[in-house]
Amino acid sequence: MKMKTEIVIVGTGVAGLFCALNLPQDKEILMITKSDTKSSDSFLAQGGICVLRDEDDYDSYFEDTMKAGHYENRKESVDIMIRSSREIIGDLVGYGVEFERSEDGFAYTREGAHSRPRILYHEDITGKEITSRLLSQVKKLKNVTILEYTTMTDIIEENGICAGILAESETDGSMEIRADYTILASGGIGGTYMHSTNYPHLTGDAIEISRKHGIRLEHLDYVQIHPTTLYSKKPGRRFLISESVRGEGAVLYNKEGKRFVNELLPRDIVTKAIHEQMEKDGTDYVWLSMDNIKKETIRSHFPNICRHCLEEGYDVTKEWIPVVPAQHYFMGGIWVDSDSLTSMDSLFAVGETSCNGVHGANRLASNSLLESLVFAKRAAAKIKAMYGEDIKGEETA
Ligand SMILES: Cc1cc2nc3c(=O)[nH]c(=O)nc-3n(C[C@H](O)[C@H](O)[C@H](O)COP(=O)(O)OP(=O)(O)OC[C@H]3O[C@@H](n4cnc5c(N)ncnc54)[C@H](O)[C@@H]3O)c2cc1C
Repeated sequence: MKMKTEIVIVGTGVAGLFCALNLPQDKEILMITKSDTKSSDSFLAQGGICVLRDEDDYDSYFEDTMKAGHYENRKESVDIMIRSSREIIGDLVGYGVEFERSEDGFAYTREGAHSRPRILYHEDITGKEITSRLLSQVKKLKNVTILEYTTMTDIIEENGICAGILAESETDGSMEIRADYTILASGGIGGTYMHSTNYPHLTGDAIEISRKHGIRLEHLDYVQIHPTTLYSKKPGRRFLISESVRGEGAVLYNKEGKRFVNELLPRDIVTKAIHEQMEKDGTDYVWLSMDNIKKETIRSHFPNICRHCLEEGYDVTKEWIPVVPAQHYFMGGIWVDSDSLTSMDSLFAVGETSCNGVHGANRLASNSLLESLVFAKRAAAKIKAMYGEDIKGEETA
């Protein structure tokens, strides 16, 4: 089947959806997703989304992001993300996203390597709250069509320019989708790992396709392992125990019930300490205790974690749970500039599949939803401007 659209977006997580919402509504947009629209990592995000609370927090937020990233971050991108954060939160609230509130306004939580609480959250299902609201807004747009169970298999390259994609649909077979602009928003690489918190269908397809076409890639070895996922012998996706549980006071114990690490250090350091401890103890996991957190707080802030652990046989309000590190996030990816343009003309990449350098060598907790949204909006603005330039060019020709 051959199709023509103006913009094609590969992926329906936060990055793809926010792009669609910010693109001009007089442009025809086709979105495809390999699975159904609810099966994206964006729906799984638990802990929350960072925001610059006030001007006084700028230096400390910038430093926390750089330090977690081992100072390998692109400073310009970090600055853009932090400076845009309040506008993005305003957009989300405008789309109906509800964040936890206190008497003075928003309530903030804290995660590892943040020097102060600056994370907005919705129980422990922040990703579901944000993504489902964005998805319902996109579904209202008359200019957007979403095709589920449709997998991009290649891009169409013509004279060094991206002219669309090739895809395989479960219902319609092979498809050639031509477009003025292509946006890759196809998420991470967790599906290529045995133990990962990601959906198994997220296998870095856009990255492999880009490699084949000589598109610039960056930091392919920068993979984040999350220190705490619930230990299980069952096959499949690992269940995340959000870092905000440690931010609220949970501690890690070795097999003798002794603490062995500062739980709020950056993820890579806590992960290394857990691996070393498991080796010393000859175990496949360490223990996480929520004894220091009030039972009410556990139930109200982490209802999803409570429920899931109960299903696995653990009551987190009464007992320790076994946890183990697992693949979680990909800092590297398709190199993009600060407008999310790749090294190939007419081809953009946003979200986890892209690398705009915000995260450096290691992502600071709760920066990825924000980074995805900020740079998706910039991609949309750039495309809008490029259409404007085309019109100007035609007028003066
Ligand atoms: C368990 C978990 C908890 C997390 N918690 C947080 C948190 O608290 N805060 C935070 O900031 N970040 C968190 N993250 C990270 C964050 O959720 C992701 O980085 C972010 O949602 C990525 O969004 P995305 O739009 O780039 O990709 P995704 O949401 O993963 O979407 C990818 C989309 O691409 C589609 N796709 C993939 N390949 C193809 C293909 N070949 N053809 C067509 N479609 C394709 C998929 O079907 C999907 O629709 C968490 C991640 C996980 C897994």
